[in-house]
Amino acid sequence: MAEQLVDKFNRVVDYVRISVTDRCDFRCVYCMAEDMVFAPRSEILSLEEITLIAQAFVELGVSNIRLTGGEPLVRKGITQLVENIAALPGLKQLNMTSNGSQLPHLATPLKQAGLSRLNISLDSLKPDRFKQLTRTGDLQTVLDGIMQAKSAGFTDIKINCVVLKGRNDDEILDLIAFIRQHQLGISFIEEMPLGHIDEHDRALTFMSSADIRDIITQQYELESCDEHTGGPSRYWQFADGHTSRIGFISPHSHNFCGSCNRVRVTAQGRLLLCLGNEHSIDLKSVVRKYPGELEPVKQAIREAMDLKPERHHFELGEEVQILRFMNSTGG
Ligand code: SAM
Ligand code: SF4
Repeated sequence: MAEQLVDKFNRVVDYVRISVTDRCDFRCVYCMAEDMVFAPRSEILSLEEITLIAQAFVELGVSNIRLTGGEPLVRKGITQLVENIAALPGLKQLNMTSNGSQLPHLATPLKQAGLSRLNISLDSLKPDRFKQLTRTGDLQTVLDGIMQAKSAGFTDIKINCVVLKGRNDDEILDLIAFIRQHQLGISFIEEMPLGHIDEHDRALTFMSSADIRDIITQQYELESCDEHTGGPSRYWQFADGHTSRIGFISPHSHNFCGSCNRVRVTAQGRLLLCLGNEHSIDLKSVVRKYPGELEPVKQAIREAMDLKPERHHFELGEEVQILRFMNSTGG
C-alpha cells in the first residue's frame, strides 16, 4: 500500500500549501506592512528545491498541492515550476492562490502547464478602494486576469475575500452579484492575526463569518452544503439553484482543527505543521545538505508529523502570538 502521512491525532495529511516566494507586487493592509523587509534571495528555496520537496510529499501520499506566496506569479520560472510539479505521478490537484495581477498574460501558459484550479483574491470592486486596500493594486488588471483565466479554460475559479468592518463590508452583496454574474465561487476569510502591522488594528476591523452571512441572507436564501475539503471552509449554496458556492473560512469563530489535513512550506523552506502555531522544522537545511536526494527530505517530513499540534489558538485584541506575516507563511 502507498505510504501515508499520519500525525499523532490520527489525521492523514494529504494536502500541502507551498509558498514559492515571500515577495509581492501588492501590499494588502491586512497582510503586509508598507515597508516590508523580504528575505534575502539566498534564503529562498530554488525552483529545483521546491520541486524536490513537492516530489517528496507526493511520494508520501500527498495528492493535493497549492502554490501560494507572497504572490506566486511574481516568481521567475513559475510556469516551468507548475509544469514540473503537475507532472509528478500521484498528484491529483495542483492549485494556486494568486492576486490576479499577472493573470492577463499568465493564465493561458499556466493552464497549458497543468495547473488545475485558481483562487483569486478580490476585496473590492471599487477602483479607489481596491488601491487603498492593496496599496498598489490596479482593479481593472485583476478583473482582466479573472476573465482571462475563464477564457483559458479554468473552471471552479474561486474568489478569496477578506472583509474588514468599515472598509469593504458594504460591498458584500456587490461581490455576491459579481460571482453570480460570472459563475465563480467565493470564500470569505476572517482576518487572522499574523504579523504585527502598525497602521492597522485588527480588533477594530474584525468581521465574523456569521456577520457576513447575515448580510447575504438579507437578499439570498442560503442552504448549507455537505461539501468538506478537510480545511477551514464551510460551504453554502443558493436556494434559488444558482451554481456558485459560498465558503466561509472562520479560524476565530469555528474551530476546524479536528479534521485538519494540511501542512505548509514557507518560501524559506520551513515546514509549518499548523498555521496558528510556531511548530516547524527546517526543510531547507535538509535539501541543501543532501542536494537532489529524496530520502532525507522524506524522512524529515515523516518525523515532523509528530510535531503537528492538536489545535490553533487565535485570539483577537491580544498581543500577536504569531510573528510571521501571511506572505511568508503562504495563505
Ligand atoms: N498573493 C496571493 C493572494 O493574495 O491571493 C496569495 C497569497 S495571500 C497571503 C493568500 C490569501 O491570504 C489571500 O486571499 C489573502 O487575502 C489572505 N490573507 C492575507 N493576510 C491575511 C490575514 N491576516 N488574515 C486572513 N487572510 C489573509
Ligand atoms: Fe500580496 Fe496576497 Fe499578501 Fe495581498 S494578500 S499583500 S496580494 S501576498
